[in-house]
Formats: sequence, structure tokens, C-alpha cells
Amino acid sequence: MLNIEVQLCGLVFDIILIFFILRHESVGLYSEKIFKLCLMVYTVCIFLDITSIFAIVYSAFIPQLLTEAICKIYLVSLLMASFMGFIYTCSDVLHLRESSEFQTGIRVVLAAGVLFIMMTPISYFHSGRTVYSYGPSTVVTYIFAPMFIIGSLVFTFVYGKQMSAHRRRGIRAWMAIEIVAAVIQFVFPQALLVGFGSSIGLFILYSELENPEVYLDRITGRFSFDTFNLYLKQEFAYIKKFSSIIVCNEEDLKLDDELEKSILVEMSEYLASFANAKLFRLSNNDFALIYDTKEEIAMDEIESAVNLDVIRNRFRQPWAGNVYLDTHFLYMPNSGAVSSVEEYIDVYLRNRDSFIKEEEMKLLDDTASQHVREYKQMILEIKDAISSDRFEVFYQPIYSINTETFVSAEALARMRGRDGKLVMPDKFIPIAEETGLIEQIGEKIFSKACNCIRKYELKNKGIEYVEVNLSISQCENPMLSVKYDEIMKNACIEPRDISLEITESSTLNQKRILLDNMNKLMNLGVSFALDDFGTGESNLNYIVDMPVKIVKFDRTMIQDYFKNEKARVVMDATVKMIKELGLSIVAEGVETEEQFEKIRSMGIDYIQGYYFSKPLSENDFIKFIDEKNKITGQ
Ligand code: C2E
Ligand code: CA
Ligand code: CA
Repeated sequence: MLNIEVQLCGLVFDIILIFFILRHESVGLYSEKIFKLCLMVYTVCIFLDITSIFAIVYSAFIPQLLTEAICKIYLVSLLMASFMGFIYTCSDVLHLRESSEFQTGIRVVLAAGVLFIMMTPISYFHSGRTVYSYGPSTVVTYIFAPMFIIGSLVFTFVYGKQMSAHRRRGIRAWMAIEIVAAVIQFVFPQALLVGFGSSIGLFILYSELENPEVYLDRITGRFSFDTFNLYLKQEFAYIKKFSSIIVCNEEDLKLDDELEKSILVEMSEYLASFANAKLFRLSNNDFALIYDTKEEIAMDEIESAVNLDVIRNRFRQPWAGNVYLDTHFLYMPNSGAVSSVEEYIDVYLRNRDSFIKEEEMKLLDDTASQHVREYKQMILEIKDAISSDRFEVFYQPIYSINTETFVSAEALARMRGRDGKLVMPDKFIPIAEETGLIEQIGEKIFSKACNCIRKYELKNKGIEYVEVNLSISQCENPMLSVKYDEIMKNACIEPRDISLEITESSTLNQKRILLDNMNKLMNLGVSFALDDFGTGESNLNYIVDMPVKIVKFDRTMIQDYFKNEKARVVMDATVKMIKELGLSIVAEGVETEEQFEKIRSMGIDYIQGYYFSKPLSENDFIKFIDEKNKITGQ
């Protein structure tokens, strides 16, 4: 009986692994390719191990040169195997993968090892069940192979941060097993453990991270979002071009679990039928099709564009027989629009979250990614401006038709850039609202407005109250009234010096918290105004429900009044109704004398617009009021 049971076991292990791996479609990740190559080399290595044992046992019947050659080729394959393990270890460390000096260096070491093994003499021993080779050639292998094995182990410490924790652990276990097996075999040459040890090591790696299943999404069996990240990371690292179609479904399909799963499976099967693309299941029930474009960029772009139309048509049809979904699409014809996987994900997520109802498809091109860059930049600038207190308040005077003086002003936020330039609210308010930063900005503006009221004794200048904007997310905060009360107390002003401008909130729950906040603040003496009236965001019902004292007609409504007959009729009737409800009206955006005269004759109470003044800095505002409101007793 030959001493090959252990090797046979290893061989069986490797063959099982190969079988599992070939069963699955491959994503095409670099580490995945290297792992397959490793597996191949290791399998050949075990096979040669067995062959060499046969060659030694039956050396009497074959030429000595041939036996020696087989033994040496086995040693070369052993060296190759440790070399492949080393390459695999380096696969996560991009700068090593890319460094030609490093790559040349390790290949020179490998070549030197192979040369020495082939050039130096080898002997072999066979007695009963004990079979092994020895001599200088074997010693050379025992010198060179450990360099790669120990090198791998050392690299998992030196470059550990650049590897995934799984890979680090897997490689360490693998290398440790190889070292133990090699030491045992070195001390007891008849215990031929190296090949088997390697198989076990590979098996551990396979189960830890090269198992193709880890790349797959559980429900659909398609590549997962993590895999998508890894794959794109590789594509960008090698500056490969691809085009992509992202199918965006509602985060919550609002179906029962089983139905949802079966729809996702049906969808993924349909999308997988586009043979030239790789399909990924992203988070949020989204799917991505990636077309690697390589050289023929134009061709693949056309293919993906044509498929996009086909896919859009299919998604207008029902799933699982009768379920219609509101699916949107993102199409990036050329990955050159973004420069990294992080940026790709940013552009994808930002655009997926900003679809408007009727919009079925968005093109992700240079402009789209530029917008996302600016958006992210603006978030940083806002945070920076908050922490270094670079928000200022401008005041736009509000004129009373009744007293013919300026009785109020609206506090409007401005952001002072690092370069000293003023940034207007349309650039930062919507982003601050989306990111929740508006809460901090709103508070700062409020507190500054309060201080201004106190500092300049605005009441004595004829300014009865200051209007300050509240954004929806502020109104949703149950702590709003407590905070604002505290700010007013700190500034030593009366709550009736303040009128807060609110806009219509969409959900019932928002409305409930808003009402609660309003009641608490009104009990203190704060009053409320409804902003943006007439923009489609607000309707008459809202005025009835909400305890506001003032309704602010939006600029667009005033402008329409002078442009179109229907708007005129509607506005006249609206003014009448609001007056009957006992509320006051501010007309915003009055720019010309003609507009002013007309508005004055309509029964509107207050006017805010460029006709009188643009929003002014604190100093300019005080000068303005001092000059215009002379009549009030100072
Ligand atoms: P808004 O509350 O409707 O404020 C009125 C806007 O109309 C101001 O723009 C003002 O400068 C502008 N405006 C006033 N009269 C005229 C006019 O005759 N012609 C024209 N063309 N425009 C006029 P601003 O200051 O750029 O503010 C824009 C928006 O930013 C505000 O609209 C408000 O929604 C938001 N905003 C400003 N400050 C704050 C703040 O402190 N908090 C919150 N939540 N939002 C703010
Ligand atoms: Ca306002
Ligand atoms: Ca307004």
C-alpha cells in the first residue's frame, strides 16, 4: 500500500471545491480569479505529489532522469503554490498590485527558486510505506517556499488595514496550517502533509470568503450590493468603462412578504436575461445592470440604451400577474461621469431619492454627477458656516398700508462664505432642509433676530414685530416651543415681538405636532403667519384649520395677478374671504409703483417687496427704518 491516502484526501477536497466554484456564475473580481488560479495550482501540486510517489516507488522500472524530473516538477509546483498564496494575499492591496517593481521583484524570486530547484541534484528514498525525496533541490524548496508563506503571513499584519477582516483571518489560518504541515513534514519526511494542509487551508478560505454564495443576494440569488461595491471598486481601480441601468423600486413595495419575494425573483429573472450585462440586487429593492464596455464603448452604450427601452416597457406591465409597480430608472451611459465607487453610489442614491412622480427615467451624466458634487460640497460649507458662526440675518421691511409706515420686517438668512461673499438662501436652505441642518440654522437666525430686536429697541422705531421663518422639520420637533421660549428669554424680548412664518405641512402627524408647538408658543404671546400662500403648497382649508393671524401671498401669486384675468378673479375672492375670517394679508414681491397702487386698493394690509426695499443687512435696515419711520415717536 502506497503512502498516498492523505494526498488523495486533499485531491478529493480540491475537486469538490472546484465543483462548487464552477457551479456559480462569477462576478469577475480579481481576488476571485486569483483564488481559482490558486486552487488549480494546488490541485496540480497534489496530483504531482502522488505522481512523484509513484515515480519513486517504481523508479526501478523508469529512467532515473524521468523520476528526478517528476520529483523536481512536483517541487516547482509546491513553490508555485506558495507563490500563488502570496499573490492572493496581495490582491486586496492595490498599490502592491499596481507596483511593477514589486511584481517584477517577486517574479524574479520565483524564477530564481525554480532555476535552483531544476539545477541542483535530488535524491529519493523508498522503504516500505516511507517515500520521500531529499537533497539540495528539496532544501532549496524549503528555503524559497517559506519566503512566500511567511511573507503572506507578515503582509496580513503590515497591510491588514487594506484587507477585509474576513480575508485577513482566512489567510492567517491558511498560512498557519501550511507552516505547521511543512514543519511536521520537514521533521518527519515520511509524513507527507504539505499538500493536504494546503487543501484544508483553501477550504477554510473558501468557506470564509471565496464561497461564491457570499457574493449573492439571498432572495434573488443574484450578485449582492456588497459584491456590487467590490466589483465597481475594481472597475474604477482599473479605469474600466461601463454603462449601467439602475432599476429603482419603492423601498417598501407594500405587499405581503411572499408576494414581494416572488416579484423580486420574477424581476431578477427577467433582468438576468440580458446576457451581456452583470445583474446586481442593490439595497432598497433596486437592481443594477452593468455593461462592461471595454474598447467598444459606443457599441455597448447603444446596447444598454436599447435594452433600457425594452426594460421600461416591461416594467409598465404587471408583475406576478396583476401587481403594477412605480418603477423609475437611472441610466448612466458612461461610467466616466464619476470617478470612484463612492461617487457612483452617491450619485445613484441622491438621484434615486429625488425622483418626482411623473419622472420615469433620469440620465446620470457629467451634469448629474456635478450636481451631486456641488450638493456634497454645500453640505460641508453649511456645516462649516454653522460651526464658525457665519450665518447673518438680513431684514426686509414690511409696509403697512394703514399707517403708511414700516411696522414689521422679515428676517432672512444669508450665509457668509469663507471668501466673504454672501450665499443666498435658495442655494443652501433646500439642502439644509433635506439634511436636517435647517434646525440649527433656524435657531441661529431666530436668536440673532431676537438680539437685534433688543439691541436696537425696534419697537421704539415703529417695528411692532419681526417675522421669522420656521421650516417644516423645525415644526416637527416637539422641543421647538421650549427652545424658542428660552431663546426669547435669553434675549430679553417679549414673545409678541415675534411672528413665526410657517408653511403647510403635508402629513397629519406633522400637523399635530405643529399645532401643539403653535399652541404652546401662542400661549406665550407669539403669533403666526402662513407663508407661501398661493404656491400650490397651501390652500384655503389650511387657513381655517391653523390659528394664524397673517397670510402671506406668495410673489408668484402677485405676479400672476397682473398677468392673467383668472388669477385676478381668484385673488379678489380670496382676499375677501381671508378678510372675512378676520386675518391680515401681506403681499410679497411687490416691485413697481403700478403694482403697489393696485394692491393698496384691494384691501390688503401689508406690503413686502423690492418696491420699498430688498432685504438689508442689520446696519442698513436700522438706517432705513430710522429714515423712513421718522413719524414714529423716537
Ligand atoms: P420667503 O420666506 O418667501 O422669503 C421671501 C423671499 O422673497 C426673499 O428671498 C426675498 O428677498 C424675496 N423677495 C421679497 N420681495 C421681493 C420682490 O419684490 N421681488 C423679488 N424677486 N423677490 C422678492 P430670500 O431672502 O432669497 O429667501 C428665499 C427663501 O429662503 C425664503 O422665501 C424662505 O423660504 C427661505 N428662507 C430664508 N431665510 C430663512 C430662514 O431663516 N429659515 C428658513 N426656514 N427659511 C428661510
Ligand atoms: Ca418667509
Ligand atoms: Ca414668502
